[in-house]
Amino acid sequence: MIDQLRDFKRDYYCGDLNESNIGEEVRLLGWVDTVRDHGGVIFINLRDREGIVQVVFDPSKIGEKLYNKAKKLKSEYVIGVRGRVNRRPAGTENPKMKTGNIEVAGEELLILNTSKALPFPIEDNIKVSEEVRLKYRYLDLRRPSMQRNIILRHEVYQAVREFLAGNGFIEVETPMLTKSTPEGARDFLVPSRLEKGKFYALPQSPQLFKQILMVAGLERYFQIAKCFRDEDLRADRQPEFTQIDLEMSFVTEDDVITLAESLIQHVYKKVLGIDIKIPFRRMSYEEAINKYGTDKPDLRYGLELIDITDLAKEVEFKVFNDVAKSGGLVKGINIKGGSKFSRKEIDELTEYAKKFGAKGMAWVKLENGEATSPILKFFTEEQKQKLFSLMDAKDGDLLIFIADKKDITYKVLGFLRKHIAEKMNLIDNSRLEFLWVVDFPLFEWDEEENRLVAIHHPFTSPKDEDIDRLDEALNNPEIALSFKSKAYDMVLNGEEIGGGSIRIHTPYIQEKVFQLLNISEEEAKEKFGFLIEALSYGAPPHGGLAFGLDRILALMTGSESIRDMIAFPKTQKGICPLTGAPDYVSEKQLKEVGIKVEVDEEW
Ligand code: ASP
Repeated sequence: MIDQLRDFKRDYYCGDLNESNIGEEVRLLGWVDTVRDHGGVIFINLRDREGIVQVVFDPSKIGEKLYNKAKKLKSEYVIGVRGRVNRRPAGTENPKMKTGNIEVAGEELLILNTSKALPFPIEDNIKVSEEVRLKYRYLDLRRPSMQRNIILRHEVYQAVREFLAGNGFIEVETPMLTKSTPEGARDFLVPSRLEKGKFYALPQSPQLFKQILMVAGLERYFQIAKCFRDEDLRADRQPEFTQIDLEMSFVTEDDVITLAESLIQHVYKKVLGIDIKIPFRRMSYEEAINKYGTDKPDLRYGLELIDITDLAKEVEFKVFNDVAKSGGLVKGINIKGGSKFSRKEIDELTEYAKKFGAKGMAWVKLENGEATSPILKFFTEEQKQKLFSLMDAKDGDLLIFIADKKDITYKVLGFLRKHIAEKMNLIDNSRLEFLWVVDFPLFEWDEEENRLVAIHHPFTSPKDEDIDRLDEALNNPEIALSFKSKAYDMVLNGEEIGGGSIRIHTPYIQEKVFQLLNISEEEAKEKFGFLIEALSYGAPPHGGLAFGLDRILALMTGSESIRDMIAFPKTQKGICPLTGAPDYVSEKQLKEVGIKVEVDEEW
């Protein structure tokens, strides 16, 4: 059999044809999107990566052999068509199609492959489970919206490379088979065959390598890097995901921040044609938590948190009073126009609050000049007025309050704020609210482990004023909780899209921070000895950040899930339905790497 493609070369992509091609003879290759038979005339929608064009086989104009061949065509057959581009007869144009004014009169047809009946149609807005979409990912990816996503991803890669290479960054690949890098998640492990009993870890990020590249004098590094974190796949996470990772020498927080926002500005302009204003707003971690209950606030709407703890100390209402006096926090939100909420809707809000750990939710409804509330009877007239003034309460408002331990009050109100904004349609999806959250604490207290843990990671530099207090904190870890770090997060519409820090660049300070984190000298040496050693050979001051590429893409396209932005993602259970990974391996393979698998029946 001769290769049918030997003398048949594509002249155009289907979607690229237009009226300027009328009269031209063209050769096209692609998939049969649809077949229709109109009184014996066969109409094919031929689809390729760039779009669709209509091809016509008219028995009054072509020979019987060709016509009979065309009659065999079914959805997703792979074909080649040669024919002349014509203007569609008046009245048969399709304004919904990019190529809707033209059609191709088929004169030659190659059938390059057939297709089985499809598990789902190749079109957008299909109702089919994600499991099935992922099993037949090659069909799912033929759908126009998925093609657009994958192409957009490619365009973002190119824009990132263009900007960073243009700004003196050097692209370096760091190893996938490596040692554990702590980013706060579990490692994926790979057994070593040559050194039985030893394991590589897949990188949670290129953090240590990029710092070492700075010690190596590369000055500016970037990588579009795969990262692996074996976490429980809450919400919209993937066990392997992609970061735009970068690091710079001789920089301050401001330098990295400026570079990073310029990169985002460039990518949005280049890929979406959208102008983004820089510099982005900056907000301290403290302000973000106090006002929004979260370190990644969505600034597209108000509903700010208001502190009434001092007032709560005075009132007779026991729930408020106890919390306020025992170091807890009483905070509220004024829902403007919320008085229209029915009792049932308020109960629903309370139930929602309970999901995040609240014991209850207090409220005050201001309607028709009257205040209704289960709690106001515990307030004196003066206290009521004070409450209304603190909350800026007006007729038509609904005030809600959470009283609990600090963390819970913030968390619950943070989630309620978002829930209410969604419920009341306050979110303008056309807005892009970028924000830098800065001045993060360096550490937090881990109740379970009973020790300090790094909020960003252990390589993040404390602020200059706190560096001098490291020794003091070694005897009194409480002090360390007040330390601030040179870390920064970029937030877009309530999602963290990037984060980084200025790093510790002297072995002396790095060792102290390990000590504060209760990492023993031995453990530090064993795990990060190579970093400490590298830092002791003239490491320049350096810092950087990493963007979550999948998340940025999902925000750019308005996709609900990052899975739609990844060619071959895992399900929420970490499974690849296409290949069946993860899978068992043969006894022989296990033996080679010295592994015995114990299967616990209960698992
Ligand atoms: N390695 C960090 C992360 O994955 C980013 C950075 O500090 O540059 O979050």
